[in-house]
Amino acid sequence: MAAKTFDMIVIGAGPGGYVAAIRGAQLGLNVAIVEREHMGGICLNWGCIPTKALLRSAEVFHLMHRAKEFGLKADGIGYDLDAVVQRSRGVAKQLSGGIGHLMKKNKITTFMGEATLPKKRTVSVKTDKGTEELTAKSIVVATGARARELPGLEADGDLVWTYKHALMPKRMPKKLLVIGSGAIGIEFASFFNTLGADTTVVEVMDRVLPVEDAEISAFAKKAFVKQGMKIMEKSTVKKLDRAKGKVTAHIEAGGKTETMEFDTVISAVGIVGNVENLGLEALGVKIDRTHVVTDEYCRTGVDGLYAIGDIAGAPWLAHKASHEGVMVAELIAGKHPHPIKPNSIAGCTYCHPQVASVGLTEAKAKEAGHEVKVGRFPFIGNGKAIALGEAEGMIKTVFDAKTGELLGAHMVGAEVTELIQGYVVGRSLETTEGELMETVFPHPTLSEMMHEAVLDAYGRALHI
Ligand SMILES: Cc1cc2nc3c(=O)[nH]c(=O)nc-3n(C[C@H](O)[C@H](O)[C@H](O)COP(=O)(O)OP(=O)(O)OC[C@H]3O[C@@H](n4cnc5c(N)ncnc54)[C@H](O)[C@@H]3O)c2cc1C
Repeated sequence: MAAKTFDMIVIGAGPGGYVAAIRGAQLGLNVAIVEREHMGGICLNWGCIPTKALLRSAEVFHLMHRAKEFGLKADGIGYDLDAVVQRSRGVAKQLSGGIGHLMKKNKITTFMGEATLPKKRTVSVKTDKGTEELTAKSIVVATGARARELPGLEADGDLVWTYKHALMPKRMPKKLLVIGSGAIGIEFASFFNTLGADTTVVEVMDRVLPVEDAEISAFAKKAFVKQGMKIMEKSTVKKLDRAKGKVTAHIEAGGKTETMEFDTVISAVGIVGNVENLGLEALGVKIDRTHVVTDEYCRTGVDGLYAIGDIAGAPWLAHKASHEGVMVAELIAGKHPHPIKPNSIAGCTYCHPQVASVGLTEAKAKEAGHEVKVGRFPFIGNGKAIALGEAEGMIKTVFDAKTGELLGAHMVGAEVTELIQGYVVGRSLETTEGELMETVFPHPTLSEMMHEAVLDAYGRALHI
């Protein structure tokens, strides 16, 4: 059979791949997309979206327990784990189906099958019906990533779970160990802890949410401990002994090893790129620790071959993948897009309380040689936060003392994942302290704290 020819072929229909395909089609390219499992990738099916649906159930459950505080009555509060999971799966399904419609609407040819790259500018797709060969001048690899498995801590789906098992739990953990306190680990810890699991989080670094500003990590930790979580920092799970219905974890801290028993373990120790079995190395693509090495335009160094999203390395975030998808499609269509600025990509964690940040932490800014001005504002000083019953949180800003550049912003508290984008826009427009201070923020909103945290950096905060 003759090869089908396109202008651009995208491998993988996650937020990187499907967005690249849409942007390519918008620019008049004849686009094909190949997906082996599910439209929407990890993000829509096993990541961003279903976790947020679970966390919403936990949030409502938590608020129901606080009903009296709001002058309300809620008796017999409980949950049905299957129904909570079904809601989450339903939300994922709805969105995944929506991607199929978007492909049709944009006249993108979809192939459901496993793609390989047998030679330059060629994609081979293995489907139920056989193998098809496709060719294109430009190929975008967006095959994403999967959970990292550490020796001895491998998931078995019964006692030891990855995020996939944790998204569809068949039983509620009673005594839960979460290994790793990055965004994925802490979101599941937050979900199961809120629903009543006795939760312990073990983190090898010196603090939870180790990429966040140290003050934000400390604030979040205090809140987690108040909610009943046990947090073990500078600690390593060395070994898991599995028996019927229980796991004994050997946890090392400060040169000593202690053993603790759990009925469930969630391993959230990072991810590895889906680089295998594609034929990348044979084409001359460089791979470094399971990720494709690319330049700032996502070019692999092999003519016409690009890599975007999780497979192309950190930060492993859906919005980074999508932005790279748009950039690459524009490049392929002959436009002149700007490369992505890694320091302007916000990171959001939807635990309770939420955490969000963009740019440099105070420590990193100092390490980079900046003289800094730092502002802080607590949620307790904000009328809307108090009215919402969400007075726990803080916002921190880091400015360059000499130029007034907003180097970083860090937040912990209710809805901060929605607020952070204000600062992202500011950074994108290369704003300085003067413009931020002159901006009028609507009252009463949580966003007023963003203003106050800027004013505070310059000794002008009004409500503290
Ligand atoms: C539990 C969890 C929660 C998360 N929460 C968030 C969040 O709140 N916010 C956020 O920004 N990010 C979050 N992430 C990360 C986010 O899901 C990823 O950054 C994002 O999905 C990366 O997009 P991608 O397009 O690079 O890859 P993916 O979404 O992984 O998609 C890759 C696709 O390629 C397909 N594929 C792979 N190999 C082949 C092949 N050979 N042939 C054909 N198809 C192939 C796969 O089936 C998959 O559908 C979360 C991740 C997890 C696991």
